[in-house]
Amino acid sequence: MPRAVVVGGGVVGSTAALELAEAGWQVTVCDPDLGPGGCSHGNAGMVVPSHIVPLAAPGVVGQGLKWMLDPRSPFRLKPRLDPGLWRWTARFLRSATRGHVERSAPALREIGLLSRRLWAERAAGLPFAFGFEERGLLMLARTAHGLAEEEEGARLAERHGLEARVLDRAGVQALEPEVEVRAAGGVFYPGDAHLDPGGFLRGLWGHLEGLGVVSLPWRIDGFERRGGRAVGVRAGAESLPADAVVVAGGAWSPALGRLLGFELLLEGGKGYSFTLRREALPVRVPALLVERRVAVTPLGGRVRLAGTLELAGTDRTIDPRRVAGIAAAPPEFYGVPEIAPPATDDVWVGLRPCTPDGLPSIGLAPGWENVVVATGHGPMGLSLAPATAKLVTGLITGTPLPIDPAPFRPDR
Ligand SMILES: Cc1cc2nc3c(=O)[nH]c(=O)nc-3n(C[C@H](O)[C@H](O)[C@H](O)COP(=O)(O)OP(=O)(O)OC[C@H]3O[C@@H](n4cnc5c(N)ncnc54)[C@H](O)[C@@H]3O)c2cc1C
Repeated sequence: MPRAVVVGGGVVGSTAALELAEAGWQVTVCDPDLGPGGCSHGNAGMVVPSHIVPLAAPGVVGQGLKWMLDPRSPFRLKPRLDPGLWRWTARFLRSATRGHVERSAPALREIGLLSRRLWAERAAGLPFAFGFEERGLLMLARTAHGLAEEEEGARLAERHGLEARVLDRAGVQALEPEVEVRAAGGVFYPGDAHLDPGGFLRGLWGHLEGLGVVSLPWRIDGFERRGGRAVGVRAGAESLPADAVVVAGGAWSPALGRLLGFELLLEGGKGYSFTLRREALPVRVPALLVERRVAVTPLGGRVRLAGTLELAGTDRTIDPRRVAGIAAAPPEFYGVPEIAPPATDDVWVGLRPCTPDGLPSIGLAPGWENVVVATGHGPMGLSLAPATAKLVTGLITGTPLPIDPAPFRPDR
């Protein structure tokens, strides 16, 4: 049986492990912190084929600069003396153009729609439930200005064949019978879905064990090479042979890139979430509160609030001012009482692996014939994980790929 090592057991590495095990490989997942320490457990759980605009887009820079001045705002770039951060920023600024959005949208659409379909198949086929619901997504705008901007997004989505419905306040209210809507309106994307990310990973790990996938609490710090191929991985004095390696180290992947001899430009985009009883905010449809960039996701009897994007490398400290900013957002959009910010212990923190051009990095590591990189999904790693796993497995096994991975080449 051929042996694959997956470095990193977040949602991207774990779904790749599942796909490889199903393809007949003996899979070992190495991760010193399999659990909520990565970015995959406490995220907002949204599956968003509607998101075809990359993070690097026009308007983001001006808005980001304004937000930098507000400690409760949803965005911050923490300056640090790291040439990688400055190269990342320069590349991000170069990418934030209309042309880049137009070029990237078809690729994001392809991978997003494939992944959405695969999530539905997984929900029907896996032997455990993970709260997969097909209720769409509301981009909820408090102001007329916010709604006008979202309408532009809806037109772009429609040009790319995605369904988008522009709704006034009454239209949104009709979708939300249990809570008063105070927003100006919104854009509803009926093709989106959501799930419980922590529930999915817990169920998946039980299932992977049953398939014979082994997990080792190893931090990989070296690759063994013969010619153009990896023949194993190392962690301190330990080593493990491999016929193929998947690098899915999330925001920590740049260090793995250096070990492989290439620069993987990635920044950790720190975000927070906390989960309340549903009564505090009884929404039915997941929503993104546009002006506050806060995600609201119903998860069974609970509701999750998630938000902020602080470019802070791999720093995971929690800034209570930004958590308070998340808690303050829902009463501006819905008729609900104030939400008290949670204690720091009740806040989940995750680092989104953000590439400067907003597209994931999926493909062979430069100079390697059997090392596949799968990272850089930024705010969409959960959404895009099943399609990424298909691409990874196709690249390793040489089977036909469901979509063209060229736009996602790690050395683009
Ligand atoms: C607040 C918030 C809300 C979000 N909401 C959504 C959403 O609604 N929908 C969506 O699609 N996405 C969302 N995201 C983004 C999503 O969570 C990430 O894109 C995704 O979790 C990334 O998964 P990953 O497997 O690449 O990384 P991770 O989950 O971070 O996993 C990487 C793993 O690699 C391990 N690792 C690192 N280095 C090594 C090494 N040397 N050796 C071994 N292991 C190593 C780490 O321990 C870690 O467990 C959100 C993120 C945040 C922060």
